[in-house]
Amino acid sequence: MNAPLAAKAFQARSISLASRYGGRTVLAIGAHPDDVELAIGGMLARLSRESARVVIAVVSIPTDFATRHAEAQRAAEILGCELRLLVDDGCKRIDDIKNYQLVGMLDALVRELQPAAVLTHSAHEFHRDHVTVHQACISTQRLKPFDFFHFNPTMCRPVPVEFHPRAYVDVTDTIEIKMAAIEAHLSQFGSRGLEAEMYRDLARLTGRMVGVKYAEGIDVGRMLLA
Ligand SMILES: [Zn+2]
Repeated sequence: MNAPLAAKAFQARSISLASRYGGRTVLAIGAHPDDVELAIGGMLARLSRESARVVIAVVSIPTDFATRHAEAQRAAEILGCELRLLVDDGCKRIDDIKNYQLVGMLDALVRELQPAAVLTHSAHEFHRDHVTVHQACISTQRLKPFDFFHFNPTMCRPVPVEFHPRAYVDVTDTIEIKMAAIEAHLSQFGSRGLEAEMYRDLARLTGRMVGVKYAEGIDVGRMLLA
């Protein structure tokens, strides 16, 4: 089989997001504003378009609360998602949240939303806040049998981190929405001159792994194949 035919066959047998999560709730949890957009913005935009209720939960905002809250709200609107800010009464660093409090906040969210899928940071991260959130999310699995995925490490400047996606989402139709959501974080990608375009490059490279133009890679923590 030649390469284009192989790619077509691969896609034809894929699990569609709409059939799995359409009409259901998907919860994406990030430590800080912009993490979720960087990692899986294209996937969330697709889910929203394909009739899932998508909730982005940001644990806390470490600095510049009003600006970063407004940017996160704008980015969520661009993706067609709802935003929840777990620590919503001012700036707080994740290091200053006790672990039982973090687990309690995430438990409450899962109990309220009853998600069909939860996506969060992986254990393979260079940022300790991201690892802390990953570990707190691990324990929410005891509450309900949702699909559990881990997303690509998020960073504003590239750092080598071990992460191997084992599932891929075609985001060819939503890559521009993702880039617009990233650019909504003006305080990060405007004034600080950080490199948003590397996420387009990453999506292009990830897409080549599975024969589509742009893709996002996720790892599977738990998934029921019915
Ligand atoms: Zn972060």
